Amino acid sequence: MTSNTAIATAYSQLIADIGACARECGRSEGDVTLLAVSKTRTATEVGAAYRAGARHFGENYLQDALPKVDAFSTQREDYPDLCWHFIGALQSNKTRDVASHFSWVHTIDRIKIARRLDSARPDNLPPLNVCLQVNLHNEPQKAGISPDDLPELLDLLAELPRLAVRGLMIIPATHADPASAFDALSALFTRLTPVDAERRLLWNTQSMGMSGDYRAAIAAGSTMVRIGTALFGARQT
Ligand SMILES: *Cc1c(COP(=O)(O)O)cnc(C)c1O
Repeated sequence: MTSNTAIATAYSQLIADIGACARECGRSEGDVTLLAVSKTRTATEVGAAYRAGARHFGENYLQDALPKVDAFSTQREDYPDLCWHFIGALQSNKTRDVASHFSWVHTIDRIKIARRLDSARPDNLPPLNVCLQVNLHNEPQKAGISPDDLPELLDLLAELPRLAVRGLMIIPATHADPASAFDALSALFTRLTPVDAERRLLWNTQSMGMSGDYRAAIAAGSTMVRIGTALFGARQT
Protein backbone atom coordinates (compact mmCIF):
# COMPACT_ATOMS: atom_id res chain seq x y z
CA MET A 1 0.00 0.00 0.00
CA THR A 2 1.26 3.50 -0.83
CA SER A 3 1.77 5.79 2.19
CA ASN A 4 -0.37 8.87 2.79
CA THR A 5 2.71 11.07 2.47
CA ALA A 6 3.72 9.55 -0.85
CA ILE A 7 0.19 10.07 -2.20
CA ALA A 8 0.09 13.68 -0.97
CA THR A 9 3.47 14.42 -2.57
CA ALA A 10 2.53 12.79 -5.86
CA TYR A 11 -0.77 14.68 -5.88
CA SER A 12 0.83 18.11 -5.47
CA GLN A 13 3.43 17.32 -8.13
CA LEU A 14 0.72 16.21 -10.54
CA ILE A 15 -1.44 19.26 -9.92
CA ALA A 16 1.56 21.53 -10.48
CA ASP A 17 2.51 19.69 -13.67
CA ILE A 18 -1.04 19.62 -15.04
CA GLY A 19 -1.33 23.36 -14.38
CA ALA A 20 2.04 24.08 -16.00
CA CYS A 21 1.07 21.98 -19.03
CA ALA A 22 -2.22 23.78 -19.42
CA ARG A 23 -0.55 27.21 -19.22
CA GLU A 24 2.11 26.21 -21.78
CA CYS A 25 -0.71 25.35 -24.17
CA GLY A 26 -2.40 28.69 -23.60
CA ARG A 27 -5.12 27.13 -21.48
CA SER A 28 -5.94 27.93 -17.87
CA GLU A 29 -5.14 25.60 -14.99
CA GLY A 30 -8.77 25.22 -14.03
CA ASP A 31 -9.57 23.71 -17.44
CA VAL A 32 -8.21 20.29 -16.53
CA THR A 33 -9.60 18.09 -13.77
CA LEU A 34 -7.58 15.27 -12.27
CA LEU A 35 -9.58 12.06 -12.06
CA ALA A 36 -7.77 9.83 -9.56
CA VAL A 37 -8.06 6.26 -10.85
CA SER A 38 -8.43 4.22 -7.67
CA LYS A 39 -9.05 0.73 -9.09
CA THR A 40 -7.32 -1.88 -6.88
CA ARG A 41 -6.55 0.79 -4.25
CA THR A 42 -7.76 0.63 -0.66
CA ALA A 43 -10.20 3.03 0.97
CA THR A 44 -7.26 4.33 3.02
CA GLU A 45 -5.44 5.32 -0.17
CA VAL A 46 -8.57 7.00 -1.52
CA GLY A 47 -8.91 8.90 1.76
CA ALA A 48 -5.29 10.06 1.55
CA ALA A 49 -5.81 11.34 -1.99
CA TYR A 50 -8.98 13.16 -0.91
CA ARG A 51 -7.17 14.89 1.94
CA ALA A 52 -4.41 15.86 -0.50
CA GLY A 53 -7.06 17.58 -2.63
CA ALA A 54 -8.45 15.00 -5.08
CA ARG A 55 -12.25 15.08 -5.44
CA HIS A 56 -12.91 12.84 -8.45
CA PHE A 57 -12.21 9.11 -8.30
CA GLY A 58 -12.46 6.55 -11.10
CA GLU A 59 -13.20 2.85 -10.70
CA ASN A 60 -13.21 0.05 -13.31
CA TYR A 61 -14.38 -3.03 -11.48
CA LEU A 62 -17.82 -2.80 -9.96
CA GLN A 63 -17.35 -5.53 -7.36
CA ASP A 64 -14.24 -3.83 -5.99
CA ALA A 65 -15.79 -0.39 -6.18
CA LEU A 66 -19.13 -0.93 -4.42
CA PRO A 67 -17.76 -1.55 -0.90
CA LYS A 68 -15.52 1.52 -1.24
CA VAL A 69 -18.34 3.73 -2.51
CA ASP A 70 -20.59 2.54 0.30
CA ALA A 71 -17.90 3.05 2.94
CA PHE A 72 -17.42 6.69 1.90
CA SER A 73 -21.13 7.42 1.57
CA THR A 74 -21.55 6.64 5.28
CA GLN A 75 -18.84 9.26 6.02
CA ARG A 76 -20.32 12.10 3.96
CA GLU A 77 -19.42 14.76 6.57
CA ASP A 78 -15.73 13.96 6.21
CA TYR A 79 -15.76 13.57 2.42
CA PRO A 80 -18.53 15.92 1.28
CA ASP A 81 -17.40 16.45 -2.34
CA LEU A 82 -16.13 12.99 -3.15
CA CYS A 83 -17.39 12.16 -6.65
CA TRP A 84 -17.26 8.66 -8.15
CA HIS A 85 -16.76 7.97 -11.87
CA PHE A 86 -17.25 4.57 -13.47
CA ILE A 87 -14.58 4.11 -16.17
CA GLY A 88 -14.67 0.34 -16.78
CA ALA A 89 -16.45 -1.92 -19.24
CA LEU A 90 -20.14 -1.92 -18.46
CA GLN A 91 -22.40 -4.96 -18.85
CA SER A 92 -26.19 -4.79 -18.78
CA ASN A 93 -26.48 -6.63 -15.50
CA LYS A 94 -24.31 -4.01 -13.75
CA THR A 95 -26.27 -0.95 -14.78
CA ARG A 96 -28.52 -0.79 -11.69
CA ASP A 97 -25.60 -0.64 -9.23
CA VAL A 98 -23.68 1.82 -11.40
CA ALA A 99 -26.71 4.11 -11.75
CA SER A 100 -27.19 4.25 -7.98
CA HIS A 101 -23.56 4.48 -6.82
CA PHE A 102 -21.80 6.73 -9.34
CA SER A 103 -22.07 10.33 -10.52
CA TRP A 104 -20.38 9.74 -13.88
CA VAL A 105 -19.98 6.94 -16.43
CA HIS A 106 -17.25 7.41 -19.07
CA THR A 107 -17.79 4.25 -21.09
CA ILE A 108 -21.14 4.55 -22.85
CA ASP A 109 -20.95 2.99 -26.30
CA ARG A 110 -24.44 1.67 -26.98
CA ILE A 111 -27.98 2.81 -26.49
CA LYS A 112 -29.12 -0.33 -24.68
CA ILE A 113 -26.79 0.33 -21.73
CA ALA A 114 -27.68 4.04 -21.73
CA ARG A 115 -31.42 3.25 -21.56
CA ARG A 116 -30.88 0.88 -18.66
CA LEU A 117 -28.82 3.48 -16.78
CA ASP A 118 -31.47 6.11 -17.44
CA SER A 119 -34.30 4.00 -16.07
CA ALA A 120 -32.25 2.81 -13.09
CA ARG A 121 -31.05 6.27 -12.06
CA PRO A 122 -32.74 6.99 -8.70
CA ASP A 123 -35.10 9.99 -8.72
CA ASN A 124 -33.50 11.53 -5.64
CA LEU A 125 -30.16 11.89 -7.45
CA PRO A 126 -29.24 14.44 -10.14
CA PRO A 127 -28.94 13.11 -13.72
CA LEU A 128 -26.07 10.70 -14.29
CA ASN A 129 -23.22 12.40 -16.18
CA VAL A 130 -22.10 10.33 -19.17
CA CYS A 131 -19.28 10.39 -21.69
CA LEU A 132 -19.28 8.37 -24.90
CA GLN A 133 -16.27 6.12 -25.35
CA VAL A 134 -14.89 6.36 -28.88
CA ASN A 135 -13.17 3.56 -30.78
CA LEU A 136 -11.41 5.65 -33.44
CA HIS A 137 -10.25 2.91 -35.76
CA ASN A 138 -12.95 0.31 -35.09
CA GLU A 139 -10.53 -2.02 -33.37
CA PRO A 140 -12.42 -5.28 -32.99
CA GLN A 141 -11.38 -6.21 -29.44
CA LYS A 142 -11.94 -2.75 -28.06
CA ALA A 143 -14.90 -1.06 -26.44
CA GLY A 144 -16.19 2.20 -27.83
CA ILE A 145 -18.40 3.45 -30.60
CA SER A 146 -17.16 4.22 -34.09
CA PRO A 147 -17.08 7.94 -34.95
CA ASP A 148 -19.56 7.28 -37.79
CA ASP A 149 -22.18 6.03 -35.35
CA LEU A 150 -21.78 8.84 -32.81
CA PRO A 151 -24.35 11.32 -34.20
CA GLU A 152 -27.14 8.73 -34.09
CA LEU A 153 -26.28 7.65 -30.54
CA LEU A 154 -26.22 11.29 -29.42
CA ASP A 155 -29.69 11.85 -30.87
CA LEU A 156 -31.04 8.85 -28.98
CA LEU A 157 -29.34 9.93 -25.74
CA ALA A 158 -31.05 13.31 -25.92
CA GLU A 159 -34.32 11.52 -25.16
CA LEU A 160 -33.10 10.10 -21.85
CA PRO A 161 -33.91 12.63 -19.11
CA ARG A 162 -31.94 10.95 -16.30
CA LEU A 163 -28.65 11.20 -18.24
CA ALA A 164 -26.57 14.35 -18.79
CA VAL A 165 -24.39 13.95 -21.88
CA ARG A 166 -21.06 15.58 -21.03
CA GLY A 167 -18.64 14.65 -23.83
CA LEU A 168 -16.28 12.02 -25.18
CA MET A 169 -13.73 9.59 -23.76
CA ILE A 170 -10.89 7.70 -25.38
CA ILE A 171 -8.28 5.09 -24.49
CA PRO A 172 -5.78 5.24 -27.39
CA ALA A 173 -4.75 1.96 -29.00
CA THR A 174 -1.49 0.69 -27.52
CA HIS A 175 0.32 0.67 -30.87
CA ALA A 176 -0.98 4.06 -32.00
CA ASP A 177 0.50 7.50 -31.46
CA PRO A 178 -1.59 8.83 -28.55
CA ALA A 179 -1.22 12.47 -29.64
CA SER A 180 -2.95 11.83 -32.97
CA ALA A 181 -5.75 9.93 -31.21
CA PHE A 182 -6.20 12.85 -28.80
CA ASP A 183 -6.31 15.34 -31.68
CA ALA A 184 -8.89 13.19 -33.46
CA LEU A 185 -11.05 12.99 -30.34
CA SER A 186 -10.84 16.73 -29.85
CA ALA A 187 -11.91 17.37 -33.44
CA LEU A 188 -14.88 15.02 -33.00
CA PHE A 189 -15.79 16.76 -29.76
CA THR A 190 -15.90 20.13 -31.51
CA ARG A 191 -17.78 18.81 -34.52
CA LEU A 192 -20.46 17.18 -32.36
CA THR A 193 -21.09 20.16 -30.09
CA PRO A 194 -24.90 20.28 -29.70
CA VAL A 195 -26.74 23.20 -31.29
CA ASP A 196 -29.38 23.15 -28.58
CA ALA A 197 -28.28 25.69 -25.93
CA GLU A 198 -29.19 23.60 -22.91
CA ARG A 199 -27.32 20.54 -24.13
CA ARG A 200 -24.38 22.65 -25.28
CA LEU A 201 -23.85 23.93 -21.73
CA LEU A 202 -23.27 20.39 -20.46
CA TRP A 203 -21.08 19.33 -23.40
CA ASN A 204 -17.72 20.26 -21.87
CA THR A 205 -15.76 17.07 -21.22
CA GLN A 206 -12.91 15.43 -23.09
CA SER A 207 -11.87 12.49 -20.93
CA MET A 208 -8.41 11.59 -22.20
CA GLY A 209 -4.87 11.10 -20.95
CA MET A 210 -3.45 8.68 -18.37
CA SER A 211 -0.20 8.58 -16.36
CA GLY A 212 1.99 8.04 -19.42
CA ASP A 213 0.42 10.49 -21.84
CA TYR A 214 -1.53 13.17 -19.98
CA ARG A 215 0.69 15.99 -21.23
CA ALA A 216 -0.09 15.17 -24.85
CA ALA A 217 -3.77 14.89 -23.94
CA ILE A 218 -3.79 18.33 -22.31
CA ALA A 219 -2.08 19.81 -25.37
CA ALA A 220 -4.88 18.35 -27.51
CA GLY A 221 -7.68 19.74 -25.31
CA SER A 222 -8.30 17.20 -22.55
CA THR A 223 -10.48 18.47 -19.72
CA MET A 224 -10.17 15.38 -17.55
CA VAL A 225 -7.03 13.29 -17.17
CA ARG A 226 -7.50 9.82 -15.64
CA ILE A 227 -4.45 9.11 -13.53
CA GLY A 228 -3.71 6.02 -11.45
CA THR A 229 -0.05 4.99 -11.41
CA ALA A 230 1.46 8.48 -11.25
CA LEU A 231 -0.64 9.21 -8.16
CA PHE A 232 -0.82 5.94 -6.25
CA GLY A 233 2.27 4.10 -7.54
CA ALA A 234 2.45 0.90 -9.61
CA ARG A 235 -0.55 -1.42 -9.36
CA GLN A 236 -0.13 -4.96 -8.01
CA THR A 237 -1.22 -7.47 -10.62
C1 LIG B 1 -6.42 2.13 -15.25
C2 LIG B 1 -7.01 3.19 -16.10
C3 LIG B 1 -6.47 4.48 -16.10
C4 LIG B 1 -5.25 4.89 -15.31
O1 LIG B 1 -4.10 4.35 -15.87
P1 LIG B 1 -2.64 4.76 -15.27
O2 LIG B 1 -1.73 4.40 -16.38
O3 LIG B 1 -2.45 3.93 -14.05
O4 LIG B 1 -2.67 6.20 -14.99
C5 LIG B 1 -7.11 5.45 -16.87
N1 LIG B 1 -8.21 5.16 -17.60
C6 LIG B 1 -8.76 3.93 -17.62
C7 LIG B 1 -9.96 3.68 -18.43
C8 LIG B 1 -8.16 2.90 -16.89
O5 LIG B 1 -8.70 1.68 -16.93
